[in-house]
Amino acid sequence: MWLVLALLAVGLAGLFLWNRSLKKEVKSRQKIEEEVRYLAFHDDLTGVRNRQYFKDMLQDLDADGEKTPPFALLLFGLDAFRLINDSLGHKVGDYMLKRVAERIQSRLETGCEVARISGDEFAVFVPGDNNQVALTNLVEILIAEVSKPMSHGDQSLTIASSVGIASNHEGALDTLAVLEYADLALHRAKEVNPGGYMFYCAEMTAQMNERQALASALREALNNKQLYLEYQPQLVMGSGKICGFEALVRWNHPEKGRIPPNIFVEIAEKEGMMITLGDQVLNMACKQAVLWQRQGVGFERVAVNVSVKQFVEPDFVEKVLNTLEQTGLSADALELEITESLFMGDLAQAKETMLALNEKGVQFAIDDFGTGFSSLLYLKNLPVDKLKLDQGFIREITKDNSSLQIVKASLQMGHALRMSVIAEGVETEEERALLMELNCDQAQGYLYSRPLPEAFILPELEGEIKQNLEAECA
Ligand code: C2E
Ligand code: MG
Ligand code: MG
Repeated sequence: MWLVLALLAVGLAGLFLWNRSLKKEVKSRQKIEEEVRYLAFHDDLTGVRNRQYFKDMLQDLDADGEKTPPFALLLFGLDAFRLINDSLGHKVGDYMLKRVAERIQSRLETGCEVARISGDEFAVFVPGDNNQVALTNLVEILIAEVSKPMSHGDQSLTIASSVGIASNHEGALDTLAVLEYADLALHRAKEVNPGGYMFYCAEMTAQMNERQALASALREALNNKQLYLEYQPQLVMGSGKICGFEALVRWNHPEKGRIPPNIFVEIAEKEGMMITLGDQVLNMACKQAVLWQRQGVGFERVAVNVSVKQFVEPDFVEKVLNTLEQTGLSADALELEITESLFMGDLAQAKETMLALNEKGVQFAIDDFGTGFSSLLYLKNLPVDKLKLDQGFIREITKDNSSLQIVKASLQMGHALRMSVIAEGVETEEERALLMELNCDQAQGYLYSRPLPEAFILPELEGEIKQNLEAECA
């Protein structure tokens, strides 16, 4: 009898414990499910809604079968956020993102919804048929709120944002298209009015389509190796000797004709074609330089423009050295033109790359000097051989005293750091004479020669340029 009772008690206790653990299990599963559901629709860094939720929400508005209710979207893009992450670290970047999310949310009325839809972009859904004035008011309040200083430890941080605005007046548009329109408007705002806002207009779609058509034509031209180079002579100011040729890439679009390189180089950079373009340019320029050496064209170096995108690739050094080897050009006959924007990224890495190439004999010139990064500290630590004064300064040198002073200071500094200095875009005899007086080492510009097709670059070119120049002075 006791035994039966004892077994019964043990059984009941077991049942009780099993029931309790089952309840616990159910609870913990519910909690996990809740967490999963939360994470599926929220951004785990900032706690606001995420991209998936935002897109679903927009699509649901369409799905009712009824006319879509009117709404507007404000798309916030933080300006230069990558720079903050790179220079101050991800912790500070994360902190700023959280604060931005809080700040936007704190200024929204009920019915509005904010989501972080990519690393540095926040979208705001504004219900109702708001006119431009109402939306402008709201955006201005939000931009001001986001850009207030934030304190982090003993640092005071600020971040600006640009905003693209689009709405579906009277429910006319597919709801996801409104997000694309806001994105186009944001990009335009970043280009023409950083820190401000832009409303979407149909012209933006037309421009995007044109740009996409250009991008695919460029892709085809690269596949078919249809890009080619022109070369602009660089001259020693005192002697009139040609010391180098700058290689400048050219593209003849099958219907539109010649497209300016600033336009298609930028497309190549944004659409992931810069490496291919850069490889082709480097290869053509090195091959051509070897041919000139064989033909007896006098020059020291061929200068090749290198974009930051190419330069930061991990195999850049290897690629340049391989190209030199394959084409037979010696390293000291190659100069790479880089821009100051390179030094806004990983400076230590840039230095390593430059040193590795410089050790072999490759020289570096800073293109468009004076237009970019304002710190000059990098100059003394890096193997830079040449400063190329931007043509904006040269254009003004005979008219505007501040340009003249900038050119003078750059020359002094370049020479003090044992660099040579070249003036770009020299167009008039007056500019040439003044630059000579200022002790500028080299010059390049229409006064001497426009960029030329390779067939025009013959051993006689130097004499021809001298003659033209004398005729110009006479
Ligand atoms: P950049 O490297 O500063 O090249 C100098 C630009 O100034 C060239 O324009 C040249 O034709 C122009 N130029 C030269 N002398 C004068 C002058 O006296 N007056 C005026 N008004 N302009 C002059 P281009 O060929 O249109 O190239 C524009 C920019 O496109 C280049 O500026 C460079 O940033 C980029 N680019 C050209 N080729 C390449 C390339 O192969 N790779 C890369 N990454 N960028 C390139
Ligand atoms: Mg250049
Ligand atoms: Mg330049």
